Amino acid sequence: MAKSKSYPLCNLSLIVLSLVALAVAATADDSSFPTSYTWRPQPPKKLTKPVVLLISSDGFRFGYQFKTETPNIDLLISSGTEAQTGLIPVFPTMTFPNHNSIATGLYPAYHGIIMNKFTDPVTGELFNRNLDPKWWLGEPLWVTAVNQGLKAATYFWPGADVHKGSWTCPKGFCKAPYNVSVPLEERVDRILSYFDLSESEIPDFMGLYLDQPDIQGHEYGPDDPRVTEAVAKVDTMIGRVIQGLKKRKVFSDVHVILLGDHGMVTSCDKKVIYIDDLADWIKVPADWIQAYSPVLAMNPRWGKDVKNPGEKNAELVAKMNKALSSGKVENGEFLQVYLKEKLPQRLHYSDSSRIPPIIGMVGEGILVRQNRTNAHECYGDHGYDNMFFSMRSIFIGHGPRFKRGRKVPSFENVQVYNVVAEILGLRPAPNNGSSLFTRSLLLPFGETAEVELARLILT
Ligand SMILES: [Zn+2]
Repeated sequence: MAKSKSYPLCNLSLIVLSLVALAVAATADDSSFPTSYTWRPQPPKKLTKPVVLLISSDGFRFGYQFKTETPNIDLLISSGTEAQTGLIPVFPTMTFPNHNSIATGLYPAYHGIIMNKFTDPVTGELFNRNLDPKWWLGEPLWVTAVNQGLKAATYFWPGADVHKGSWTCPKGFCKAPYNVSVPLEERVDRILSYFDLSESEIPDFMGLYLDQPDIQGHEYGPDDPRVTEAVAKVDTMIGRVIQGLKKRKVFSDVHVILLGDHGMVTSCDKKVIYIDDLADWIKVPADWIQAYSPVLAMNPRWGKDVKNPGEKNAELVAKMNKALSSGKVENGEFLQVYLKEKLPQRLHYSDSSRIPPIIGMVGEGILVRQNRTNAHECYGDHGYDNMFFSMRSIFIGHGPRFKRGRKVPSFENVQVYNVVAEILGLRPAPNNGSSLFTRSLLLPFGETAEVELARLILT
């Protein structure tokens, strides 16, 4: 386990000089940093250990930060590191799969939560946010932390109330089950109260879940003024975090990571594909379909006399695609059906027996239904292909290991696990993120403040 080091101030100038060359080399092409800066002595660190506060704002679509004034998010961005065009969710771009990918660094096929709700095709068991650890295959950050002797706290983080390893969701440090009626202020204040503990008792890792603006995005669609209000509310909560940390004189010591699990797209006035319209080519019974959209998930129930169901599945896929591309099925061009092992590799969505054998990729904001009804559906949704920009969320990192004012290219949220593990000096469990990625996002351990200072003096 790594220890945090605080260099004595008397040695600082020497260290600064010795790091000047390194700083020049590292930042020569960095034009994003302000060119004028008045150096002031930095106050001594109050915390002598690294602490990470990971905040998830559910359904915070990339670009929402431009809907309204967001002074507090802007402060984190200007003095931290931001994914310039957003954080890329995993497919399917749903809440539980993505929160667990952020927490474990694994794609859903490997952490097991392949949708918010699904039936295991092999066992026939239903997963509906169950807490039985058998469903949750990865090692989330709070488990990695406590397994290696650190302390962790979670507040409503999806899946954090599952008992795994040394993690028993301890009372006082693991707020669950999720309760929508708990005000966001109360959630933030609980997290802030941990900083009133003695340093050894302060959780090294904290995960805070905010359910806005997802609620409003679903109900009214992403362009509704009530979503704008919710974005302002989230910004106010970030302000509450910043002020609370400043009051306790630890704001500059804590690594605050603000991100979201996915974006949001409207379904209002969008196109609908009706499965019954494919009947001239193939009849697909409703009980073969586990989910329609944003992801079409099919588990055909062939009779016992069918010897090779895989072959029958391939035939079914071919017939469905023939119908959809015939030009005779309304909106058929917005749905493409795959055997799961033939899905594009970039989706990483095949290597699990829990994933149904047939998956349909649905166009952005398009609905799939079994048959025509007169219902007019108008709301917001997510879960679509993670290639769509509307599914992206945000990533901002602020604190000692995050360079000030830096923009980085978009990256997938499976990288976050390694980033947090690196900051906390934890040995990461095997995951789908790249160990090299942390080097491109974080300042080096132990040299952070000094390299940064050297850079500030030079610019
Ligand atoms: Zn969500």
